[in-house]
Amino acid sequence: MSDKPAVTPDGYCTNKEPIFGTIRTINASATGPKFFHLHGRRMAKCPCGKETSLTDQGNLRRHKQPQA
Ligand SMILES: [Zn+2]
Repeated sequence: MSDKPAVTPDGYCTNKEPIFGTIRTINASATGPKFFHLHGRRMAKCPCGKETSLTDQGNLRRHKQPQA
């Protein structure tokens, strides 16, 4: 895949822009009390293929790209 975001020397993805349309909010009542700490957290996908949580600013949290 040539459109993959770059990776920093320590292995983290440099992209912070979530793919539009992939943003979702976790509903803990659907996943059970075990995941209640995730309730209301927003998740989105990165072009690298990883799904990660969003910061309050709407940027992707620092993450590592999935291994091919
Ligand atoms: Zn990424």
